[in-house]
Amino acid sequence: MLIKDKYVLSLIKETKKLNLQITAQDSGHAQAQAGDISRSLGAEKYNLNYSNCEEDLLSKLFKDLAENNFTHGECREWEGTFTNNVPCTYVLGSRHYIRTIILKYLDIPKDGVTAKPKCLCKKCINPYHFTYVQGKNEKISCGDRKLVVAYRSQGVGIPQIAAALNVHRSTIYRQLSNELVSNGPESHRNGG
Ligand SMILES: [Zn+2]
Repeated sequence: MLIKDKYVLSLIKETKKLNLQITAQDSGHAQAQAGDISRSLGAEKYNLNYSNCEEDLLSKLFKDLAENNFTHGECREWEGTFTNNVPCTYVLGSRHYIRTIILKYLDIPKDGVTAKPKCLCKKCINPYHFTYVQGKNEKISCGDRKLVVAYRSQGVGIPQIAAALNVHRSTIYRQLSNELVSNGPESHRNGG
């Protein structure tokens, strides 16, 4: 079994500071993680010390990312806070969405792309379950999008759909126009 060393990573942004417990095989591994974590949270600078502190949820998340403790088969539910059903955390003076943190940590360069769970578990933060949607303000999930189309095909009004999904009407209109673009040719399929 590998012996792992414990470090405390102190992230600094303006006047805010955040301490995270990280574990690493050696100092190079610790430095690499520190760089990734710092980038993912938009920190301005950081210090790394050979030390101990409490392992909070965010520390645990970065540990799981560093060790790839995720599997395709299982969802990983975020145990922290949510805003509009989206896993998030408040550190360094601002709100950070957990899935966005993960994308930045993994250095997946997708501008304006948001990660959503394709497993339809709203709490899931397993990167293997991510699907990527264009647009920062994507307010409805893939499952809900299908629902929008289904409702609409049954003749349900836009205001009712918006109320049912708890989003603004414009979101539904936008979604429907996206569906028309992406599913256009398929709508001519023969019915059985
Ligand atoms: Zn999942």
